[in-house]
Amino acid sequence: MSFVSTSQTISVKPRGIDAMLPHGALPEMISLYMIRLIEKTGGKNGPLGRQFIASPKEEKKYYQKKASDPLNEDYHEVAPGIVYKYRGKLDKKGNVIYHGRALWTITRFCATYCRFCTRGREVGMPSFVKSHSKASIAQTPYLSSKQIEKAIAFLKNAKEINEVIISGGDPLVSPQPYLTDIIQKLAQLQQKGHLDIIRIGTRLPVHNPIAVRDWHYQLLSTLKNPYIMLHINHPLELTEETLSVLNNFRKLSGATIMSQTVLLKEVNDNVEVLYKLFTVLSKEGVRPYYLFQNDPVYWAQHFTVPIHKAIKIWKKLRPQLSGIAATARFAIDVENGYGKIPVPEGDAWDVDYTHYRDFKGKKFTLA
Ligand code: SF4
Repeated sequence: MSFVSTSQTISVKPRGIDAMLPHGALPEMISLYMIRLIEKTGGKNGPLGRQFIASPKEEKKYYQKKASDPLNEDYHEVAPGIVYKYRGKLDKKGNVIYHGRALWTITRFCATYCRFCTRGREVGMPSFVKSHSKASIAQTPYLSSKQIEKAIAFLKNAKEINEVIISGGDPLVSPQPYLTDIIQKLAQLQQKGHLDIIRIGTRLPVHNPIAVRDWHYQLLSTLKNPYIMLHINHPLELTEETLSVLNNFRKLSGATIMSQTVLLKEVNDNVEVLYKLFTVLSKEGVRPYYLFQNDPVYWAQHFTVPIHKAIKIWKKLRPQLSGIAATARFAIDVENGYGKIPVPEGDAWDVDYTHYRDFKGKKFTLA
């Protein structure tokens, strides 16, 4: 499907800050490209409309003044924008025992705002809103040069960190000079052996592929084996334009593209839709990586698929998938920042799905 529409009238009219979350973030902003696609795929109640058109009544229903941070990211911010949860370890002599990875949030803007966004506590927040969060991107939409220097110095000195995931918001919506500065500095760290792996989390190829420009491809090609972590939730998001951008990232940037999908009620909570999504992604050279249970933020409870239904979907889906797509894991990024807990498949082993252990081995009961 192509986004190009001959229709001049637009029925979806984003309400901007009039439809943002009550704590003051996630305005209803949708790219023109996505508006056209929503119109062609069932409108407001279609699988794309539901993801991007605000439902203020439902989003407010469980409102708490202090917007939730289910992954405890604010607590783990150790340098400007750098969230360091998955820690590495050094021995007493300073030798690396194992490596850690850091997430670097460099902007709070996106090309379109997803109503279930985990970082909806600050993503899209207009500058007149005062955030409860001390996170750098809650305080400023982009990092200052000084903050960037500080973050880079942190990465350089944290000998045990070998991997950075650039995130936001959507890093690829950043202005060219800003993103170039950051990528160049990371490329230098990579060339000097401070970093091995650099990933870029983005939804721009889905939200607005026509905003991806030649300079993006060229810039990412300066990294060694960049990984693009594409957030994609429904096969109807895979338009010709999106596929062409993904192909260019592969060809021109030398990127490996992996996909992350959030399981969302009345968007993709059925086996057929996910089968199609994972199969087309695999065919197009994108490796399905994770299917996530959506995070328990107050504004997205109406998207939550009950966990037992979610497990049923996954158990039915996985055996149908190509071995390539079936390497993806279904995971819950559990509350309080304890990490991503993969849900075991449970057919080969006796699994009762009532308890899990976090990445440090601590045991919890599943709600
Ligand atoms: S693209 Fe990612 S960061 Fe932006 S609104 Fe969607 S989920 Fe949130």
